Amino acid sequence: MAVQRITLLGATGSIGASTLDVVARHPDRYQVFALTAHSRVDELACLCRIHSPEVAVVATASDALRLQTLLQGQSITVLHGPEALCQVAASAETDTVMAAIVGAAGLLPTLAAVKAGKRILLANKEALVMSGALFMREVARSGSALLPIDSEHNAIFQCLPGNFSRGLAQVGVERLLLTASGGPFRNWTIEQMQRATPEQAVNHPKWSMGRKISVDSATLMNKGLELIEACWLFGTTPDHVQVVVHPESIVHSLVQYVDGSTLAQLGNPDMRTPIALGLAWPDRVSAGVSALELFTTGSLNFEAPDEVRFPCLRLARDAMRAGGTAPAVLNAANEVAVQAFLDGRLRFTDIPVLIERTLTELPMMAADELSTILAADRAARAHASRLLPVSV
Ligand code: NAD
Ligand code: MG
Repeated sequence: MAVQRITLLGATGSIGASTLDVVARHPDRYQVFALTAHSRVDELACLCRIHSPEVAVVATASDALRLQTLLQGQSITVLHGPEALCQVAASAETDTVMAAIVGAAGLLPTLAAVKAGKRILLANKEALVMSGALFMREVARSGSALLPIDSEHNAIFQCLPGNFSRGLAQVGVERLLLTASGGPFRNWTIEQMQRATPEQAVNHPKWSMGRKISVDSATLMNKGLELIEACWLFGTTPDHVQVVVHPESIVHSLVQYVDGSTLAQLGNPDMRTPIALGLAWPDRVSAGVSALELFTTGSLNFEAPDEVRFPCLRLARDAMRAGGTAPAVLNAANEVAVQAFLDGRLRFTDIPVLIERTLTELPMMAADELSTILAADRAARAHASRLLPVSV
């Protein structure tokens, strides 16, 4: 068995940490080629000492200088900037790319890996949301193996037959059921949510994740982005994807077939399971995750999402139906709104308001070209930023 050489985009993040944990359990199978980080240079230096990549990438020239100093005596090439991210993603020295940068910043390096035909472990859902048609066209062209890491999509992938790319209807699938924990505000009133603080929003009941995706989970925009992600990954439409709130986060998603069967994937909520599956597929390797104990798990509950209290789900579904640049605009406006909320500049309940205004006030275009998608992203960021209140 050849050793898989891995580029880990976003090594200092939550997915980055889980990936390195699984990789380190199987030194006979996996070797780290490159690690990248944005600004947490000390953390990256620490990871480099443990995992000895050949290349490390940071954001700026001064960060690179600092990292070089911290890594003196080690033969690690230090690079910086967005071009370097694309370079390590597409390098002939790497087989597998874990796309775990958060947000739109992950788009170009992930696409570079796709174009180079790498095995893609896709955690960075924003890249696919922004550029769905183009992204999937490039996957088909290059023959990249695209393995979903988002736990829900990983679950669906496991519940589908291997030949699902023929078309879901062709393999007897009626619909996909996407589970959602409901986030920390599942039972909060709108009035309570108006006063929600960033600390309350990032305090997810079941998953430990980065701050941006934690806020997305609280607004349910995470599930909206995942609905769009599911449509592209599995070649379906929003009408064939149902969101189901499941507070225990044990059933990671389900697939319903025309014959009355519903297949589900279950497990403890730990991202190392989908990461291990992506790394080893079609094999399975241990991930350090304990087996589910059904006697202690107890009961599993399912309920419909409340789209009045959580309008982001509707906004995402409508953006997917509208098509073109609408999902890229939705994503960009959401990134601006979430950052403003985390900075104390926007109320939690105004996140969907800002996104909806950006979507209605900007013209939408066909999204066939990368340049159009990037321009829509920039325009939406500028527009959403102009709409921000001066203070709250
Ligand atoms: P995180 O905030 O913990 O980590 C983000 C990583 O991206 C860091 O390494 C950071 O250095 C890097 N980064 C941030 N901005 C960058 C930029 N401009 N340029 C280059 N690198 C940059 O985030 P996370 O929770 O690990 O999530 C990463 C991605 O995985 C997100 O797209 C998220 O939606 C997705 N995801 C995460 C989870 C989870 O459990 N954490 C689950 C499913 C999907
Ligand atoms: Mg998910």
